[in-house]
Amino acid sequence: MPCIYCGTIENMARSHVISKFIRNGITGIADNSGKNKYKFTWIGRKDLPNQDLPKPSLLCQYHDSKFGEMIESPAARILLPSNTQFHKLNEVPKGWVKKVLSINSESLRSITVAEYHTSDFSADDAIRKFAVLTAWRALHAMNMEKNPAVVAFLQSPAGQQVQQDTKNFLDLEKSTFNHTYPYFGSIYLTGPLHASFITRSEDEVPFAWAYLEGHGQVGIVVLLGFWVVIWPLLPDGHPNRDFRTLRQMAFVDWHSFLLKQYSSNKI
Ligand SMILES: [Zn+2]
Repeated sequence: MPCIYCGTIENMARSHVISKFIRNGITGIADNSGKNKYKFTWIGRKDLPNQDLPKPSLLCQYHDSKFGEMIESPAARILLPSNTQFHKLNEVPKGWVKKVLSINSESLRSITVAEYHTSDFSADDAIRKFAVLTAWRALHAMNMEKNPAVVAFLQSPAGQQVQQDTKNFLDLEKSTFNHTYPYFGSIYLTGPLHASFITRSEDEVPFAWAYLEGHGQVGIVVLLGFWVVIWPLLPDGHPNRDFRTLRQMAFVDWHSFLLKQYSSNKI
Protein backbone atom coordinates (compact mmCIF):
# COMPACT_ATOMS: atom_id res chain seq x y z
CA MET A 1 0.00 0.00 0.00
CA PRO A 2 1.27 3.52 -0.78
CA CYS A 3 1.95 6.16 1.90
CA ILE A 4 -1.45 7.44 3.06
CA TYR A 5 -0.06 10.97 3.09
CA CYS A 6 2.05 11.38 -0.07
CA GLY A 7 1.21 8.28 -2.12
CA THR A 8 4.76 7.02 -2.65
CA ILE A 9 5.35 3.29 -2.51
CA GLU A 10 9.07 3.58 -1.87
CA ASN A 11 10.82 3.41 1.50
CA MET A 12 7.71 2.52 3.41
CA ALA A 13 7.91 2.41 7.19
CA ARG A 14 6.01 0.23 9.60
CA SER A 15 4.12 2.88 11.57
CA HIS A 16 2.46 2.57 14.90
CA VAL A 17 -1.20 3.52 14.69
CA ILE A 18 -1.03 4.30 18.38
CA SER A 19 2.13 6.28 19.01
CA LYS A 20 5.00 4.39 20.56
CA PHE A 21 5.34 6.96 23.34
CA ILE A 22 1.93 5.93 24.67
CA ARG A 23 2.86 2.27 24.96
CA ASN A 24 6.39 2.93 26.12
CA GLY A 25 5.24 5.57 28.56
CA ILE A 26 2.63 3.35 30.12
CA THR A 27 4.28 -0.05 29.95
CA GLY A 28 7.79 1.21 30.63
CA ILE A 29 7.04 2.04 34.22
CA ALA A 30 8.58 -0.41 36.67
CA ASP A 31 7.07 -1.57 39.93
CA ASN A 32 9.07 -1.82 43.15
CA SER A 33 10.61 -5.12 42.12
CA GLY A 34 11.97 -3.56 38.93
CA LYS A 35 9.57 -5.39 36.67
CA ASN A 36 7.27 -3.63 34.29
CA LYS A 37 4.08 -3.00 36.10
CA TYR A 38 1.78 -2.52 33.14
CA LYS A 39 0.95 -5.02 30.44
CA PHE A 40 -1.09 -3.95 27.47
CA THR A 41 -4.09 -5.75 26.16
CA TRP A 42 -5.39 -5.70 22.64
CA ILE A 43 -9.11 -6.16 22.91
CA GLY A 44 -10.93 -8.52 20.60
CA ARG A 45 -8.03 -9.21 18.26
CA LYS A 46 -6.31 -12.47 19.06
CA ASP A 47 -4.69 -12.35 15.62
CA LEU A 48 -2.60 -9.32 16.54
CA PRO A 49 0.77 -9.61 18.28
CA ASN A 50 0.68 -9.21 22.02
CA GLN A 51 4.23 -7.96 22.44
CA ASP A 52 3.70 -4.77 20.48
CA LEU A 53 0.85 -2.75 19.07
CA PRO A 54 0.17 -3.28 15.37
CA LYS A 55 2.56 -1.55 12.96
CA PRO A 56 0.97 -1.59 9.52
CA SER A 57 2.81 -0.15 6.56
CA LEU A 58 0.88 3.13 6.44
CA LEU A 59 3.45 5.86 5.87
CA CYS A 60 6.73 6.27 4.05
CA GLN A 61 9.79 6.59 6.24
CA TYR A 62 10.01 10.33 5.63
CA HIS A 63 6.44 11.05 6.75
CA ASP A 64 6.53 8.53 9.57
CA SER A 65 9.52 10.29 11.07
CA LYS A 66 8.22 13.80 10.27
CA PHE A 67 4.88 13.13 11.96
CA GLY A 68 6.79 11.68 14.89
CA GLU A 69 8.93 14.76 15.26
CA MET A 70 6.31 17.44 14.52
CA ILE A 71 3.11 15.98 15.96
CA GLU A 72 3.81 13.04 18.26
CA SER A 73 6.77 14.46 20.21
CA PRO A 74 4.96 17.69 21.20
CA ALA A 75 1.89 15.64 22.16
CA ALA A 76 4.05 13.26 24.23
CA ARG A 77 5.41 16.19 26.24
CA ILE A 78 1.85 17.21 27.08
CA LEU A 79 0.18 13.84 27.65
CA LEU A 80 3.03 11.92 29.24
CA PRO A 81 5.82 14.25 30.40
CA SER A 82 8.79 12.44 31.87
CA ASN A 83 7.78 13.22 35.44
CA THR A 84 4.31 11.69 35.04
CA GLN A 85 3.01 10.00 38.15
CA PHE A 86 0.55 7.43 37.09
CA HIS A 87 -1.88 7.83 39.95
CA LYS A 88 -2.08 11.49 38.92
CA LEU A 89 -3.54 10.43 35.60
CA ASN A 90 -6.80 9.89 37.43
CA GLU A 91 -6.91 13.63 37.91
CA VAL A 92 -7.27 16.43 35.39
CA PRO A 93 -3.77 17.75 34.68
CA LYS A 94 -2.91 21.33 35.59
CA GLY A 95 -3.23 23.79 32.77
CA TRP A 96 -6.20 22.07 31.19
CA VAL A 97 -9.79 23.12 31.51
CA LYS A 98 -11.91 20.38 32.95
CA LYS A 99 -14.96 19.32 31.04
CA VAL A 100 -16.77 16.60 32.85
CA LEU A 101 -18.78 14.02 31.01
CA SER A 102 -20.77 11.66 33.15
CA ILE A 103 -22.22 8.64 31.48
CA ASN A 104 -24.68 6.19 32.84
CA SER A 105 -25.76 3.03 31.18
CA GLU A 106 -26.97 -0.35 32.30
CA SER A 107 -23.77 -2.15 31.43
CA LEU A 108 -21.31 0.59 32.22
CA ARG A 109 -20.83 2.29 35.53
CA SER A 110 -20.95 6.02 35.49
CA ILE A 111 -17.61 7.37 34.32
CA THR A 112 -16.26 10.86 34.42
CA VAL A 113 -13.78 11.96 31.83
CA ALA A 114 -11.94 15.18 31.15
CA GLU A 115 -11.77 16.69 27.71
CA TYR A 116 -8.62 18.53 26.78
CA HIS A 117 -9.09 22.23 26.21
CA THR A 118 -6.48 24.87 26.65
CA SER A 119 -5.92 28.46 25.74
CA ASP A 120 -2.24 27.68 25.08
CA PHE A 121 -2.06 27.89 21.30
CA SER A 122 0.85 25.51 20.73
CA ALA A 123 -0.45 22.90 23.19
CA ASP A 124 -3.90 23.10 21.63
CA ASP A 125 -2.39 22.68 18.16
CA ALA A 126 -0.29 19.69 19.27
CA ILE A 127 -3.18 17.87 20.91
CA ARG A 128 -5.68 18.49 18.12
CA LYS A 129 -3.24 17.30 15.48
CA PHE A 130 -2.27 14.28 17.54
CA ALA A 131 -5.94 13.29 17.97
CA VAL A 132 -6.60 13.55 14.23
CA LEU A 133 -3.34 11.79 13.27
CA THR A 134 -4.12 8.87 15.57
CA ALA A 135 -7.70 8.42 14.36
CA TRP A 136 -6.68 8.90 10.71
CA ARG A 137 -4.05 6.15 11.00
CA ALA A 138 -6.64 3.88 12.65
CA LEU A 139 -9.04 4.56 9.77
CA HIS A 140 -6.37 3.57 7.24
CA ALA A 141 -5.28 0.53 9.25
CA MET A 142 -8.89 -0.72 9.08
CA ASN A 143 -8.93 0.05 5.37
CA MET A 144 -5.79 -2.07 4.90
CA GLU A 145 -7.51 -4.89 6.78
CA LYS A 146 -10.39 -4.54 4.32
CA ASN A 147 -13.01 -3.64 6.90
CA PRO A 148 -15.97 -3.41 4.45
CA ALA A 149 -17.58 -0.31 5.98
CA VAL A 150 -14.26 1.53 6.05
CA VAL A 151 -13.36 0.56 2.49
CA ALA A 152 -16.77 1.81 1.29
CA PHE A 153 -16.44 5.03 3.27
CA LEU A 154 -12.98 5.88 1.93
CA GLN A 155 -14.14 5.26 -1.63
CA SER A 156 -17.18 7.52 -1.21
CA PRO A 157 -17.05 11.26 -2.00
CA ALA A 158 -17.44 11.97 1.74
CA GLY A 159 -14.46 9.76 2.54
CA GLN A 160 -12.34 11.32 -0.18
CA GLN A 161 -13.17 14.76 1.18
CA VAL A 162 -12.07 13.69 4.68
CA GLN A 163 -8.83 12.36 3.23
CA GLN A 164 -8.12 15.56 1.30
CA ASP A 165 -8.99 17.91 4.16
CA THR A 166 -7.01 15.84 6.65
CA LYS A 167 -3.91 15.81 4.50
CA ASN A 168 -4.18 19.61 4.24
CA PHE A 169 -4.68 19.90 7.99
CA LEU A 170 -1.65 17.73 8.76
CA ASP A 171 0.48 19.56 6.17
CA LEU A 172 3.92 19.64 7.72
CA GLU A 173 5.06 22.58 5.64
CA LYS A 174 2.39 24.91 6.98
CA SER A 175 3.49 26.79 10.05
CA THR A 176 0.09 28.17 10.97
CA PHE A 177 -2.66 26.21 12.61
CA ASN A 178 -5.65 25.60 10.38
CA HIS A 179 -8.71 26.56 12.42
CA THR A 180 -11.06 25.92 9.53
CA TYR A 181 -10.49 22.16 9.47
CA PRO A 182 -14.03 20.71 9.58
CA TYR A 183 -13.25 17.40 11.30
CA PHE A 184 -11.71 18.31 14.65
CA GLY A 185 -11.72 15.41 17.06
CA SER A 186 -11.60 15.36 20.82
CA ILE A 187 -9.26 13.63 23.19
CA TYR A 188 -10.43 12.58 26.62
CA LEU A 189 -8.38 11.53 29.59
CA THR A 190 -10.10 8.48 31.05
CA GLY A 191 -7.20 7.43 33.31
CA PRO A 192 -5.93 4.24 34.96
CA LEU A 193 -9.12 3.64 36.96
CA HIS A 194 -11.14 3.43 33.79
CA ALA A 195 -8.51 1.23 32.11
CA SER A 196 -8.62 -1.23 34.98
CA PHE A 197 -12.41 -1.19 34.85
CA ILE A 198 -12.26 -2.41 31.25
CA THR A 199 -9.51 -4.99 31.73
CA ARG A 200 -10.60 -5.85 35.28
CA SER A 201 -6.98 -5.77 36.23
CA GLU A 202 -4.83 -3.03 37.70
CA ASP A 203 -1.82 -3.85 35.59
CA GLU A 204 -3.39 -4.34 32.16
CA VAL A 205 -4.00 -1.37 29.91
CA PRO A 206 -6.52 -1.65 27.06
CA PHE A 207 -6.03 -0.57 23.45
CA ALA A 208 -8.60 -0.76 20.65
CA TRP A 209 -10.10 1.20 17.80
CA ALA A 210 -13.26 1.10 15.73
CA TYR A 211 -15.21 2.69 12.91
CA LEU A 212 -18.55 3.84 14.30
CA GLU A 213 -21.60 4.16 12.10
CA GLY A 214 -25.21 4.58 13.19
CA HIS A 215 -27.80 7.08 14.46
CA GLY A 216 -26.87 9.19 11.41
CA GLN A 217 -23.27 9.52 12.65
CA VAL A 218 -19.94 8.33 11.27
CA GLY A 219 -16.72 8.47 13.24
CA ILE A 220 -13.60 6.81 14.55
CA VAL A 221 -12.91 5.98 18.17
CA VAL A 222 -9.51 4.96 19.51
CA LEU A 223 -8.81 3.78 23.04
CA LEU A 224 -5.16 4.47 23.83
CA GLY A 225 -4.78 3.06 27.30
CA PHE A 226 -5.66 6.03 29.47
CA TRP A 227 -7.07 8.23 26.70
CA VAL A 228 -9.90 8.05 24.18
CA VAL A 229 -9.90 9.87 20.83
CA ILE A 230 -13.21 10.49 19.07
CA TRP A 231 -13.02 11.74 15.50
CA PRO A 232 -16.23 12.74 13.72
CA LEU A 233 -16.24 12.05 9.99
CA LEU A 234 -19.19 14.30 9.25
CA PRO A 235 -17.91 17.84 8.68
CA ASP A 236 -18.83 20.88 10.74
CA GLY A 237 -22.07 22.29 9.40
CA HIS A 238 -23.35 18.94 8.13
CA PRO A 239 -27.07 18.75 9.02
CA ASN A 240 -26.70 15.32 10.67
CA ARG A 241 -23.57 16.01 12.63
CA ASP A 242 -24.21 15.49 16.32
CA PHE A 243 -21.10 15.09 18.42
CA ARG A 244 -23.02 14.22 21.58
CA THR A 245 -24.58 11.22 19.88
CA LEU A 246 -21.21 10.14 18.50
CA ARG A 247 -19.70 10.47 21.97
CA GLN A 248 -22.53 8.38 23.40
CA MET A 249 -21.84 5.73 20.74
CA ALA A 250 -18.16 5.74 21.68
CA PHE A 251 -18.46 5.80 25.45
CA VAL A 252 -21.56 3.68 25.94
CA ASP A 253 -22.20 1.39 22.96
CA TRP A 254 -18.58 0.71 22.04
CA HIS A 255 -17.40 0.48 25.63
CA SER A 256 -20.10 -2.10 26.36
CA PHE A 257 -18.88 -4.03 23.33
CA LEU A 258 -15.29 -3.86 24.60
CA LEU A 259 -16.30 -5.13 28.02
CA LYS A 260 -18.03 -8.11 26.42
CA GLN A 261 -15.09 -8.76 24.11
CA TYR A 262 -12.70 -8.61 27.00
CA SER A 263 -14.74 -11.07 29.05
CA SER A 264 -14.92 -13.49 26.13
CA ASN A 265 -11.15 -13.21 25.56
CA LYS A 266 -10.61 -14.37 29.09
CA ILE A 267 -12.68 -17.51 28.74
ZN1 LIG B 1 4.88 9.85 2.51
